[in-house]
Amino acid sequence: MSAPIKKVWIEAGCISCQVCQDLVPAVFLVEDGNDCVVLADAGKRFGELAEDIEQAARDCPVEVIKIEHEGDAG
Ligand code: SF4
Repeated sequence: MSAPIKKVWIEAGCISCQVCQDLVPAVFLVEDGNDCVVLADAGKRFGELAEDIEQAARDCPVEVIKIEHEGDAG
């Protein structure tokens, strides 16, 4: 079990495959042909959606979904 999620972001290299949006549409938005974005108000739901967000990060084929947890160094 990971610590609570503090921040989620997408690094360069998204291939717009929509895997993350299919898993967690309340957090990830992939508009046609554009890189994925994390929705502005998604932070309020990181707690309830944590498992799905972690799953999306694992399933992203190019591993550009990054997650910072409470207590992470840096
Ligand atoms: S799963 Fe990864 S590559 Fe696919 S749309 Fe989401 S961020 Fe982009």
